[in-house]
Amino acid sequence: MTSSGGPDRASGGPATNAPAIPELGAGIQLTDVGRAFGPTVAVQGVTLTVPMHGHLAIIGPSGCGKSTLLNLISGLDDPDEGSIEVLGATSPADRLRRCAWMPQRDLLLPWRDVLGNAALALENQGMRRKAARTQVAGLVERFGLGSFERKLPHQLSGGMRQRVSFLRTLVAGKEVLLLDEPFGALDSITRADLQQWLRSALATEPRTTVLVTHDVEEALLLGSQVIVMSARPGRIAAHYDTDFPAGASRRELLRLPEFTELRDELLARLEEAS
Ligand code: ADP
Repeated sequence: MTSSGGPDRASGGPATNAPAIPELGAGIQLTDVGRAFGPTVAVQGVTLTVPMHGHLAIIGPSGCGKSTLLNLISGLDDPDEGSIEVLGATSPADRLRRCAWMPQRDLLLPWRDVLGNAALALENQGMRRKAARTQVAGLVERFGLGSFERKLPHQLSGGMRQRVSFLRTLVAGKEVLLLDEPFGALDSITRADLQQWLRSALATEPRTTVLVTHDVEEALLLGSQVIVMSARPGRIAAHYDTDFPAGASRRELLRLPEFTELRDELLARLEEAS
């Protein structure tokens, strides 16, 4: 893996430099990517690799190009410079086919219950409603939403709705999940709860993920690698691999000295980058 535009890659946690998993192939590769909007250079010289089933977390000051990077990876946008590969796909249309977006707001259909909302992606792919509901029922149960499957969105808390939204994103069957501040609209307790939930969800349903967040702890809890972007033009100012114990809870992780050290280091890098 490579990093660009800033200090050397540093290590986080006791074990570092988690290698790409060769038998699973490459996940996402950005090579010297640049994108400008008129005179505004949004990102420049971005080179990075996310191995298959790796979790990249992107942090950086507002306007440093985080959303631009997500748009570029997803194929909604194309770089002016450099190249992007998502599971071997290079064209925007093929990248788009491999990616699912998790929206910041849940965007659930208010007239559909939990099962109906979770099943939506399958129905959109042509599956009959009943078969789609049956297929997602197991997943809904496994993700702790079984007793809510007949509830409508307005009967759920914000955190619950976001869980359903995440399930719907998973059910779409895309290999790559793009999450842009997925918990930005939630209060801090719900947010902490969902960080823990998403961590275990991704352990049981592995996907290659790219997460944009303002929250350093969230980046460390959910990212197997974390990049800090510099203020515009967005470049990679620092790049860390993390390898905290997979089975550890959020609470346990927050108490680990290597976690708090890396969190402080990231906060310092973020301050320098702003
Ligand atoms: P972030 O997500 O880190 O807040 P963005 O990727 O949204 O940053 O934006 C990076 C820079 O590029 C900002 O200065 C923004 O105004 C500019 N930008 C992003 N998208 C467009 C666009 N479609 N047209 C013009 N400028 C844009």
